[in-house]
Amino acid sequence: MLEINNLHVDLEEEDKTILKGVNLSVEAGTVHAIMGPNGSGKSTLSYVLSGRDGYKVTDGSATLAGVDLLDMDPEERAAAGLFLAFQYPVEIPGVGNMTFLRTAVNAQRKARGEEEMSAAEFLKVVREKAKTLQIDADMLKRPVNVGFSGGEKKRNEILQMAMLEPKMCILDETDSGLDVDAMKLVSDGVNALRDAGRAFLVITHYQRLLDHIKPDVVHIMYDGRIIKTGGPELALEVEQNGYADILAEVA
Ligand code: ADP
Ligand code: MG
Ligand code: MG
Repeated sequence: MLEINNLHVDLEEEDKTILKGVNLSVEAGTVHAIMGPNGSGKSTLSYVLSGRDGYKVTDGSATLAGVDLLDMDPEERAAAGLFLAFQYPVEIPGVGNMTFLRTAVNAQRKARGEEEMSAAEFLKVVREKAKTLQIDADMLKRPVNVGFSGGEKKRNEILQMAMLEPKMCILDETDSGLDVDAMKLVSDGVNALRDAGRAFLVITHYQRLLDHIKPDVVHIMYDGRIIKTGGPELALEVEQNGYADILAEVA
């Protein structure tokens, strides 16, 4: 589903290399987790994949279901099935949450040459999905994320994901700012979307999220590279011993 080869990325504004040769292969139907200390380049990787400005790819490639991602505009990547749940969801004053969701869903359908979702169908689907994430009608009417708590913003990201039904879902520290109950809601929302035709890349600092969203593969990222790959036991190792042992082993 997602194939990253030798990806090197510099900042556009500064002479600084952030990603120093990332290799990653995520098969359809699987959940991969990326862990790693702050500043390793986890968010940068998710931004570069989704097409955020400010980064320069100097080497390597990234494809989604065989299609070159790096060549596309952000909205084309989304239409191709890529979704990023932000570490820091953005507030959009003046744009109602419902309007935002409906516009996104229909823009994506249009880009794929599909028919728009009718207003009635959209309402039905959004209410149903919002309910399972315990997002109430009031939150759907308010401007996107404005005045939402940290946990509400993260649940709203998952609602967007559930509405867009992407093929490749990237979640950047969706667990940060969530209490135990909200983490359960978010995890249930993600698990409900697990499917043979879909893959997930879950970026997290903590093992606890991975108790709920069980990964098939765990990667450790450090200084712009994936330095170790293993099974779920790797996350437990990090939880118990931190990164010191892994860094020493790799060094
Ligand atoms: P992580 O998500 O693993 O904590 P980031 O991708 O946020 O790591 O950051 C990786 C490194 O790149 C850090 O040293 C960070 O300071 C730097 N960095 C990322 N984006 C920028 C930027 N726009 N300007 C300056 N430094 C940046
Ligand atoms: Mg960070
Ligand atoms: Mg980050």
